[in-house]
Amino acid sequence: MNSLPASQPIIEITYLIASTLFILSLKWMSSPSTARRGVRAGEVGMLLAIGGTLLQHGIVDYKWIAIALVLGSGIGIPLGLVQMTAVPQRTALSHAFGALCVTLVGTAEFYLRSPDLSPFIMAALSMEVILGSLTFTGSLMAAGKLQEVLPQRPLTYKGQNLVNLSLLAIAVAVAGYLIMHPGAKQLFPVIVGIPLVFGVLMIIPIGGADMPTVISLLNSYAGLSAAAMGFGLGSKLLIVAGALDGSSGLILSVIMSKAMNRSFGNVLFGAFGQVQTSAVAGQEAKSVRSATADEASAILAAANKVVVVPGYGMAVAQAQHKVRELYDALSKRGVEVRFAIHPVAGRMPGHMNVLLAEADIPYDKLVEMDDINGDFAQTDVALVIGANDVTNPAARTDSSSPIYGMPVLDVNKARTVMVIKRSMSPGFAGIDNPLYYMDRTLMLFGDAKSFLNDIVREFGGGGQN
Ligand code: NAP
Repeated sequence: MNSLPASQPIIEITYLIASTLFILSLKWMSSPSTARRGVRAGEVGMLLAIGGTLLQHGIVDYKWIAIALVLGSGIGIPLGLVQMTAVPQRTALSHAFGALCVTLVGTAEFYLRSPDLSPFIMAALSMEVILGSLTFTGSLMAAGKLQEVLPQRPLTYKGQNLVNLSLLAIAVAVAGYLIMHPGAKQLFPVIVGIPLVFGVLMIIPIGGADMPTVISLLNSYAGLSAAAMGFGLGSKLLIVAGALDGSSGLILSVIMSKAMNRSFGNVLFGAFGQVQTSAVAGQEAKSVRSATADEASAILAAANKVVVVPGYGMAVAQAQHKVRELYDALSKRGVEVRFAIHPVAGRMPGHMNVLLAEADIPYDKLVEMDDINGDFAQTDVALVIGANDVTNPAARTDSSSPIYGMPVLDVNKARTVMVIKRSMSPGFAGIDNPLYYMDRTLMLFGDAKSFLNDIVREFGGGGQN
């Protein structure tokens, strides 16, 4: 009778604790007050998972593992230091690496074990390499579009969806044949090669504007392929971690699509972001009112209720600490200041929450869109800081607008609206914003950080930008 190695129970317990920590990590990350604990739990879980794997008795030589650890750390550490605004493309690169790893492991498993593969294991291996390969090239394309090293605009041609889906169908059909005949080694490259091409073709027709949602979906694919790898390798930890990743990525994509009033189908096949120039043209004819920092500070000082609406421009300018200084200055004068959080403000989910938490703005001052929209009519000043699309009233009133139906913050209902941005340039969706031409709106042209610094200086604070 084969006896288990002495380290096996330790490995199993380590994996159990790691799985529990992954689940708790996701739970804790869903609230700002426990998010830090959630990140720590995830980190400890991953450390235990790696530690347990290194104890596996099947490992005969640690040399290659050590080399891979050094190489991986050499790539991972600089990747962890990118600017906050580059996190979406950094995340896409992480998915690409994970998916490549899953594909390579699946390929090695197939050639080591073929033809002794049960239909179930062959099905898991096929799912693993198909999802892994398409996620690898798809994520690289998504990162390239977000980093603007590839054209952001959707590239479309007639019959594109049919070509793409046919390719995928061929790969699935070949996988079906391999499940019945796992000894047909010559066919295996087909279920790696076609999805690699499919990953590129799948992203080409999707505009840069939809990349964050697509990345979240690719995250889900990477998780599902890792779960399939767990079945192939008989690892419960991988099944749990992959399933968590797969389902949370999918839920996030649904939330993001909903907040943009888009369906999945529209994101994946709608080529959004193509017809944007006509809406922006013609804005020259309309006039706007602008104001200086001292005028803006006088208006803020006279207000009782102020709602700050942060957006992508606050992230670009890294203005969150200046926002905190303004919050302190106004609160000291007895002005009630709250922050309106739109679910897709910025470029990734929770972007504004993270930045405002970094500047130590109290959590209870952050109010979700649905809870604050009813209060704008009683608000003296809505101060929009680098937000554009999420405040665009055309989403409610103009059925021809590309963002028609997207829920927005009802900023235009405030008594005075002040908008800090550098120019009249459009935001992410590439469309004009009628909010800027309203009588009650004052444009505060400038970089968010330096303009806020000038306002804070009027209150006796401020300093270096
Ligand atoms: P936005 O519509 O992209 O507008 C950002 C504005 O910030 C721009 O109009 C820009 O105008 C201004 N800006 C840029 N740099 C600035 C600086 N240094 N100082 C001051 N202003 C600056 O942003 P948003 O209102 O936050 O809306 C987010 C958009 O992203 C939505 O369309 C949403 O659907 C999309 N999106 C978000 C997510 C997500 O998960 N958060 C995912 C997918 C898509 P100037 O150039 O004139 O300064």
